[in-house]
Amino acid sequence: MGALIPFDNTYARLPASFHMAIAPQRRAAPKLLQLNRPLAEELGIDTEFLTSEGAEILSNSARAEGADPIALAYAGHQFGQFVPRLGDGRALLLGEVVDRNGQRRDIQLKGSGPTPFSRQGDGLAALGPVLREYLVSEAMHALGVPTTRSLAIVSTGESVYRETELPGAVLTRIAASHIRVGTFQYFAARGDEAALRELADYSIARHQPDAVDAPDRYRRLLDGIAIRQADLIARWMLLGFVHGVMNTDNMAISGETIDYGPCAFLDAYDPSSVFSSIDRGGRYAYANQPAIAQWNLARLAECLLPLLSTDEAEAMGQATGALTLFAERFNAAYRAGLLRKIGLSDDAEEANWTLAQELLRRMGETKADFTATFRNLASAEASDDQAGTLIQRPELQDWLATWRERLPHEPGSVEGRAADMRRENPAFIPRNQRVEEVIRAAVDDGDLEPFRAFHAALSRPYDDQPEAQRWADPGPAAPYRTFCGT
Ligand code: AMP
Ligand code: MG
Repeated sequence: MGALIPFDNTYARLPASFHMAIAPQRRAAPKLLQLNRPLAEELGIDTEFLTSEGAEILSNSARAEGADPIALAYAGHQFGQFVPRLGDGRALLLGEVVDRNGQRRDIQLKGSGPTPFSRQGDGLAALGPVLREYLVSEAMHALGVPTTRSLAIVSTGESVYRETELPGAVLTRIAASHIRVGTFQYFAARGDEAALRELADYSIARHQPDAVDAPDRYRRLLDGIAIRQADLIARWMLLGFVHGVMNTDNMAISGETIDYGPCAFLDAYDPSSVFSSIDRGGRYAYANQPAIAQWNLARLAECLLPLLSTDEAEAMGQATGALTLFAERFNAAYRAGLLRKIGLSDDAEEANWTLAQELLRRMGETKADFTATFRNLASAEASDDQAGTLIQRPELQDWLATWRERLPHEPGSVEGRAADMRRENPAFIPRNQRVEEVIRAAVDDGDLEPFRAFHAALSRPYDDQPEAQRWADPGPAAPYRTFCGT
């Protein structure tokens, strides 16, 4: 048998300017609250070991054999303002493992205590936001969206002070890497081209291995990031997901969704929906996400200019090319996805696309529930009487009639199409009112049962689960805001 956690660390070997070493810091009374066993197995980590030693190791109270705990350096544009030094202020990278599929994965602790990057912060996390990130990231994974994963929650037995006194906790987060747009910005802002090149080469080895020996490898890295981001944002848009804080330090070059703070899924369809209380200008509104991702990508491309070519015009051409690639790829992925959601193919006359746009327009006008409307549509095709009440709204009737007229022209059987649509349109998403409800039970009453029940329903989001119906119900459409004290 190998090591209990088979660490194989590479980021810690990068030059000193990339990170700061972090010593263990004992937390008062660490206790393992939640463990993701299937994920531990996928990572090749001994679950027995985690059950007995996990609380100590995964709160950085004790040093795990083979770990190299470091806080990573990065910069970032926060709400458009550049901050040259952010870094892991309340997180540390324990190390990496190569998983059962041969993929290198980061093991990160979030909320494990201060680091040299903490600035005024305490380096800690409260249990509520940790439960939230665990639930939403695992739900995103089950929905098929690239995302960081959650391995464990350890309660610290300590209090964290936000607006009030709250119980503290540490999240163990698993990621394809923690390299962000902001990591490149950190070195670019310091004018450290050697470090920039080292970071780019490291990123290529990890995320664009087919380009390692290519003469145009930096262009291929940038194009690869553009493609992954375009596909990711298309998935968000098609599921009604609003990230909430798309700062460049929260944009991973792996193409995984990262940093679940004030995120939310749309209830009533309104493209201008904003969920973060600090986003006063609506910069990170639902409908702005593709443009913001492209803006972030432009910041990355700027950093890479000196690597792309010694010829300035040539470098600019490659950078602009990546931005165009992003736009084309996003548009294609979004368009194909939206058509799949309504069970129609991409036709030459654009009639189906026009119909899809018209549905969204009416949903916006009538404030229809985003998730439930699409889910009901799948049933509405199979049989009229299965159609949920949401789809029976008078404003949608003539749209439904036109849609039903088009369906027989599509290939395949009615049943097959309905099943395909159900695979595109989830019944279960982490609706905010429900997320808050299970967090309150855990934090106020120490009752994790509702959290576990909701988590179980969310792990099969595309299946009908009559016994879990309450978790699918939209609930009263309350205006929802989350605060950034995560
Ligand atoms: P985030 O909002 O998680 O994307 O964090 C933005 C920046 O603020 C990062 O550099 C974090 O490390 C830092 N930060 C957030 N919360 C804390 C905290 N409680 N203590 C120290 N640093 C923090
Ligand atoms: Mg962040």
